Amino acid sequence: MAVCGASEVTAQPFILTMSLCVHEACVSMTRASPHLHADYDLPCPQIEMQDGVPHATLFGDSYYNADDGLAETRHVFLDGNDLPERMAAASHLTIAETGFGTGLNLLAVMAEMKRHAHLQMDYVSFEAQPMDASMMAATHAAFPEIAAEAAALRAALPPRWPGYHLVVLCAGQLTLHLHYGDVGTILPTLDMAVDSWFLDGFAPARNPSIWTADILMEIGRLTAPNGSFASFTVAGSVRRGLEAAGFAVEKAPGYGRKRHMIRGRKAGHAPEGSASGKSASGKSGLGKSAPERAAPARIAIIGAGIAGAALAAGLLRRGATPLLVDSADAPARAASGNRAALQSPRLTVDHNPMSRLSAACLSWAARASDAAGAVLASGVLALDAPERMAARHAVFRQQNWPDSLLRAADPAMLAKVGSSMTATGIFYAYGRVIRPAVLVNALADGAEFTGGFDLAKIDASGNGVRLLSSDGRELQADAVVLAGGARLASLLRLAGGDMPVEVTQGQVSHVPATRSSVQLDCGVSYGGYMTPAYDGLHEVGATFSRYPDAPEDDVAEDDAAAHAHNFALLPDELKRIFNGVMPTGPGLRTSYRASLADRRPVMGRVGDNVWMLGGLGARGFTLAPLLGEMLAAEILQRPVPLARDQRAGIAASRYLQVAAG
Ligand code: SAM
Repeated sequence: MAVCGASEVTAQPFILTMSLCVHEACVSMTRASPHLHADYDLPCPQIEMQDGVPHATLFGDSYYNADDGLAETRHVFLDGNDLPERMAAASHLTIAETGFGTGLNLLAVMAEMKRHAHLQMDYVSFEAQPMDASMMAATHAAFPEIAAEAAALRAALPPRWPGYHLVVLCAGQLTLHLHYGDVGTILPTLDMAVDSWFLDGFAPARNPSIWTADILMEIGRLTAPNGSFASFTVAGSVRRGLEAAGFAVEKAPGYGRKRHMIRGRKAGHAPEGSASGKSASGKSGLGKSAPERAAPARIAIIGAGIAGAALAAGLLRRGATPLLVDSADAPARAASGNRAALQSPRLTVDHNPMSRLSAACLSWAARASDAAGAVLASGVLALDAPERMAARHAVFRQQNWPDSLLRAADPAMLAKVGSSMTATGIFYAYGRVIRPAVLVNALADGAEFTGGFDLAKIDASGNGVRLLSSDGRELQADAVVLAGGARLASLLRLAGGDMPVEVTQGQVSHVPATRSSVQLDCGVSYGGYMTPAYDGLHEVGATFSRYPDAPEDDVAEDDAAAHAHNFALLPDELKRIFNGVMPTGPGLRTSYRASLADRRPVMGRVGDNVWMLGGLGARGFTLAPLLGEMLAAEILQRPVPLARDQRAGIAASRYLQVAAG
């Protein structure tokens, strides 16, 4: 497992003794899996500092110009793309870059952003060998002028896991989309309309892998009409490749001792879905086509739980006006109202598109929870139970994953608690145990909230939506998003659609801590789940009974049966920390979750100015923070740089009946 510099996460779990997995299913799956020994980690960059400039030994090239890297960046990439003028004129721009490296190009853009308070920016970058914060710090030290931007970037860096990571910078004005992996593999999976490209990536002779004709064609495909590029290289193959990709290429004076660089513009028609780049005055700027229809500005969100709050945060940050609407009198009163919740990924041994999306969601959910001060404990220990998970874990342990995403439960910790066992589970260092209401309220902060609004009717048309409550109140908005958790199907029916949503009831027991149970300092999952003690109580859950639909009123519960069920789910080792008996008088909380048959979320447009986000099952706090951001971007016609198969895998259209159009 790759460890680059200082470790990313050092949370030490309280580990339990579990018997080593010897189930037949587990052993045979390990033997049978074609994915044994798969490598899902990333290489570390091999760097030597030469006179304060990072030099990649693998490529035999420097990351930037030894004379003045920042001045080179400004000359080649910012001026080469006419960015100072375009940033002043546009209300939104998308920049993409091949080779994130030290982040110096981004830092120059961030510094320039300070002069353009009105500007929203999406910055999409690709990096096969990401640096960690300590490596970056060594290179950033040479540029005191951008020290504040550099510190902000390093503090916000995502974990070094392959795949997509969201990063928010410049007080929300700049959305950084970091794709960790090979750019040639990732570009063909994306759809977006880029305004300006920074073609960096070492000299073509030293690193031809990032300048292939296919990559240059992809860059052409992903460029908005009249979008631009700039590059330090004048290599003939690159020029020809860019011309073939639809760019008019010209030479321009290079930086410092380099005589030339290249820059260019792409002609042509707006590709379907291209959208960004309206000017600050509202007119289409710099020769770009205006979006087919204006993005909605005031957006009602039905449901003020984690999905609604995450969406509100994404909309607010991008300059729209979200209006959170709920039948309860405050946010986070339904399924998001539990005292504590787990954030943990749902990974698969083939790390398929949904597994990668789950990791991307955890990456953002953990950092968003940390930023919100919502974290009760870091790390989730997934025990080798039930049997199906034990078999999966057995394969995981023979694969190479980034340490902070997934690692075998630590044998040293096991030894400390007197066991000779070597493998009892999987530890997710970026897993979190959070206080749901703290995260929901932090995300919803700044959004208008209308409580006690029991939605009875949705009138939606191309011109906007009118929402009517059962007591005759009315709300107007440009669009509405249905994010009502377990009420998803009934809300959808109000909009003329339907979906086979499965509702399950989840009851969680509030179990008083014991002398040994207070030592637990991470979340634990085992089919059920248990949190560390918070205010003297553990959350131990949960029941999982099917309901035809979410009940409107509280239903009388059989508390004793629910507690017995939750206690029975606990592995024996965990029962022991409660002395083998369920403590008397625990409390209980009941809520309802919605899921679809394939257990994936549903997100997207479901009708004229009607959208939805739901089907999050028991993983709302892991999935919603990122999906809310992605849906906000989609509604506002901003880039959603998730891989096409991931977007398709959660598209609302796969279950939607009627509506849309
Ligand atoms: N823009 C960077 C900066 O501001 O520091 C400098 C980039 S450096 C010249 C080139 C970067 O491209 C390196 O970090 C390298 O790891 C990355 N790279 C090279 N080939 C790549 C590939 N095929 N896919 C993704 N990244 C690649």
